[in-house]
Amino acid sequence: MPHDEFDVVVIGTGAAGLAAAQSLAQTGLAFVVLEARERPGGRAWTTTLGNGESADIGCGWLHSAEANPFAEIAQRQGRTLDKSPPPWSRPGAQVGPLKDRMAGFAQAIGQFRERVESRPQDAPDVACDALLDPGDPFNPLIDAVSTWYSGAELAKISAADLALYEDSGVNWRVREGFGAVIAELAEGLPIRYGCPVRAIDRSGAILSIETVQGRLRAKAVIVTLPSDVLAAMPDLFRPALPDKTQAALDLPLGLDDKLYMELTGPHDFAADTRAFGALARATGAYHFCPLGRPLIEAFFGGELAEELERGGEAAAWEFASDELAGLFGSDFRARIRPLHFHGWRADPFARGGYSYARPGRAGSRAVLAAPVETRIFFAGEACSTTSFSTAHGAYETGLRAAEDAVGALRR
Ligand SMILES: Cc1cc2nc3c(=O)[nH]c(=O)nc-3n(C[C@H](O)[C@H](O)[C@H](O)COP(=O)(O)OP(=O)(O)OC[C@H]3O[C@@H](n4cnc5c(N)ncnc54)[C@H](O)[C@@H]3O)c2cc1C
Repeated sequence: MPHDEFDVVVIGTGAAGLAAAQSLAQTGLAFVVLEARERPGGRAWTTTLGNGESADIGCGWLHSAEANPFAEIAQRQGRTLDKSPPPWSRPGAQVGPLKDRMAGFAQAIGQFRERVESRPQDAPDVACDALLDPGDPFNPLIDAVSTWYSGAELAKISAADLALYEDSGVNWRVREGFGAVIAELAEGLPIRYGCPVRAIDRSGAILSIETVQGRLRAKAVIVTLPSDVLAAMPDLFRPALPDKTQAALDLPLGLDDKLYMELTGPHDFAADTRAFGALARATGAYHFCPLGRPLIEAFFGGELAEELERGGEAAAWEFASDELAGLFGSDFRARIRPLHFHGWRADPFARGGYSYARPGRAGSRAVLAAPVETRIFFAGEACSTTSFSTAHGAYETGLRAAEDAVGALRR
């Protein structure tokens, strides 16, 4: 085959793109992976902080861990799985003055989830806030949890979609970083970095893919762009695919941003403990000493994250240090310093955190995932109907897209 002609072009090296590429590598087909950034992993990204500790800026938890393909991959890579349960599954992990309220909160959020999950599948969809118990004092905190879980407030989210999410309740981590596990999948694959795709011309018998590094020709393409990136590129396909643009618009990325802080005198806090900044308004979740490290991971979601991101690290730091000083006293400010903040909304190759479905739009995941002309295949977390918003969901859609592409080419 000539240099720039391939059986399959994969776009993106996140969990979905790397799963597809690993699968194609077993087939003997000619393929290449195009990645806009200079690193693999996409929204999976482990970095080293200023104090030498490693940290996951994107995904950190292997959700539904006992069935999560990344558990086996991490072990194969010789990494260390940490199976200690997360703070959100241990009411006793709460620290600070609000800890006495956590039993009541666990009951309130448990009942809310039960209402989401027990809705009949054929009931008309509603926004999740319709399922709150009116007047429950914990409603603002349930809404805050939604901003961490789904990246958005309950009023924006389809209850039908949320009810389809499968979660075994088992959550593990990788000591060396979840992002590092996913990035390692890129080793040995034919990847062109710094190569954003600008257009996919599907008017001819062979697809023509336009990138900043020139044109490539392919029989099939696997598109793993985040939904907000797809939605922002209505002219990506020529001719356009308006159903895909609409599906991407119906599956927007919520926002979650992390601020890592150094904590001096960490031994006052047990490993993997947690505090919420407030009960009755949008607030941060503060994870103390993750994996026993002298850090606090502040997690901001939804509108609060949007606002803090607009102000950059300084705004996130000011908000977090004010909330922590409110919980632990003003002397606490002297014990913390900011180490790393990443704004996923402003990141041009992510444009947000993870997808949720707008009310009435749960069916958009299948629309987004559906192949076009048996030569344009779609993958990525937003295409998963049961594990959306997760790295393992993205991975599974990548495997499926590769299988479909190989099947189509061999037909
Ligand atoms: C703060 C945060 C915390 C999270 N926590 C968890 C967690 O604990 N557990 C979990 O399972 N998941 C978590 N997630 C979600 C998880 O990271 C994502 O669902 C998953 O990584 C998405 O993989 P993907 O392959 O679908 O997309 P991506 O990883 O976004 O991959 C898409 C790729 O396409 C590339 N790209 C974009 N535009 C172009 C272009 N024009 N041309 C070529 N390439 C392009 C991008 O650079 C990227 O590499 C978290 C995400 C965030 C942001």
